[in-house]
Amino acid sequence: MADLSSLFDNARPAAQQPNWPDREHLQRIVEQLRKMPPLVFAGEADALKEKIAAAQEGKAFWLQGGDCAETFEAATADSIRNRIKTILQMAAVLQYGASMPVIKVGRMAGQFAKPRSNDSEIRDGVTLPAYRGDAVNDLAFTAEARRPDPERLLRVYHTSSATLNLVRAFTHGGFADLRKVHEWNKGFIRDSKIGPQYEAMAKEIGRALDFMKSAGIEHEAIKTVDFYSSHEALILEYERALTRIDSRSDLPYAVSAHFLWIGERTRQLDGAHIDFASKVKNPVGVKIGPKATGDEVEALINRLNPDNEPGRLTFITRMGASGIGEALPALIKRVEKMGAKVLWVSDPMHGNTYEAPSGFKTRNFDDVIKEVQGFFKVHRDLGTHPGGIHIELTGDDVTECVGGGEKISHEDLSTKYESACDPRLNHTQSLEMAFLISQQLTER
Ligand code: PEP
Ligand code: MN
Repeated sequence: MADLSSLFDNARPAAQQPNWPDREHLQRIVEQLRKMPPLVFAGEADALKEKIAAAQEGKAFWLQGGDCAETFEAATADSIRNRIKTILQMAAVLQYGASMPVIKVGRMAGQFAKPRSNDSEIRDGVTLPAYRGDAVNDLAFTAEARRPDPERLLRVYHTSSATLNLVRAFTHGGFADLRKVHEWNKGFIRDSKIGPQYEAMAKEIGRALDFMKSAGIEHEAIKTVDFYSSHEALILEYERALTRIDSRSDLPYAVSAHFLWIGERTRQLDGAHIDFASKVKNPVGVKIGPKATGDEVEALINRLNPDNEPGRLTFITRMGASGIGEALPALIKRVEKMGAKVLWVSDPMHGNTYEAPSGFKTRNFDDVIKEVQGFFKVHRDLGTHPGGIHIELTGDDVTECVGGGEKISHEDLSTKYESACDPRLNHTQSLEMAFLISQQLTER
């Protein structure tokens, strides 16, 4: 196996890394990870890059969704299936509204590590290390559970592998047939409280499918889907250990997922995360918060995509419903002026988090929608392409975000709050969002 130790600049400062108590133990795990087979293939990452390139030209729409933090416990067949199903249902609706292909990307099969605002958490006078995701420690509030354990990185690998195996089976084994997805959407229209509002649209989609059938268009493309994996590239020991030289091109690829992004807290230009992203050939993303400057954005482009390769770079903006109209236009104008190829994606979740009176971290469905609408408006005004959305969601009926047609209230949050980290849209809220956005895309 090629030695990649000199590829990365290990001397650069790395933000948000766990304080591993036993570095030798960590090193032994890294050695094991380095020998593991890749989870994804470089050719698949290249195929995704081509699709992103099309989206950059306004010819495809990006849909990325999944948990804020995956957990080992929730990597069950039911949970994985429900998430895939939700994303496929959203994609069908969005594809109809946008009249363009939807690139389906799971925030899954690797999303196990979290950056935290504070290194420690205090409860009843007891201070313990913060929960940094199942990749690092356990959510339970005991000293034992919160101690970073490198063995968990191996479990991340194996859980990602099992998840991806099911994803591949579902998306190529008949489960993802567009007609079946449409039947699920019809069920949603029939059974959910908010469904009837979208009946007309569902009927139109049904007619389009019937038309295709009557014309003898029984294309393979509606029976299987390409579904890509993604997560935040956060734990550098894990990501570096899962980088391989592609035998076709002799170039380094991250093989922990097809697409990796660098978070808002780790995107320092001279930091180790941007160094990592600059060295792998996968398509990569960077989260862009409301305080990002034009200079930063320009420097990120120069570091991550100096050759202006199509499909390589995505900016995921998370500015907050009230901040986006103000903050986004200048950044887009700067990128346009450079002539840089970038896919703009809206993450309407992370700028809209607040604490409910009951203490639960939550988000209001209306704010989430408002940020997406703001994102569309900015792009409409500038004549640029609103390339897609990045959502924290689950396929289950949780009560983590307030609002939506089910009118989840602050008091309802305790009914079924299961997230290990940030609040997710539930199945109904996710579909409601897809229908709302789709309507807007149709009205363009
Ligand atoms: C996340 O995507 O869960 C996250 C932590 O986002 P950000 O880096 O944008 O804060
Ligand atoms: Mn999150």
